[in-house]
Amino acid sequence: MSWSNGLLPQLRPHFLELVRAIQRLDPQARVTSAKRSSSEQARLYRRYLAGQSRYPVAPPGRSKHEQGRAIDIIANKRVLEAAGLAWERAGGRWGGRFNDDIHFEA
Ligand SMILES: [Zn+2]
Repeated sequence: MSWSNGLLPQLRPHFLELVRAIQRLDPQARVTSAKRSSSEQARLYRRYLAGQSRYPVAPPGRSKHEQGRAIDIIANKRVLEAAGLAWERAGGRWGGRFNDDIHFEA
């Protein structure tokens, strides 16, 4: 999966399994962001500061996306919540705790 390029190799199988599990419940689900460069993060952060982002965005240098440790998945809200709780039980962090239910990090 091309979206998984740049993720930490030891995390990639877990993110792939997470996305597969979500897509079984919501076939429309898709990954909208994974590894980001710091310039991409800066661009998204400027949009966020301008009020043009629906979800919170960390400043450049502060996002797990830049470390290849996070992905964003658009999916049905209930599916995201169930997946988020399972992700947390497995030791990950889910953005639903901070108004960012599309965000999964490890
Ligand atoms: Zn995210």
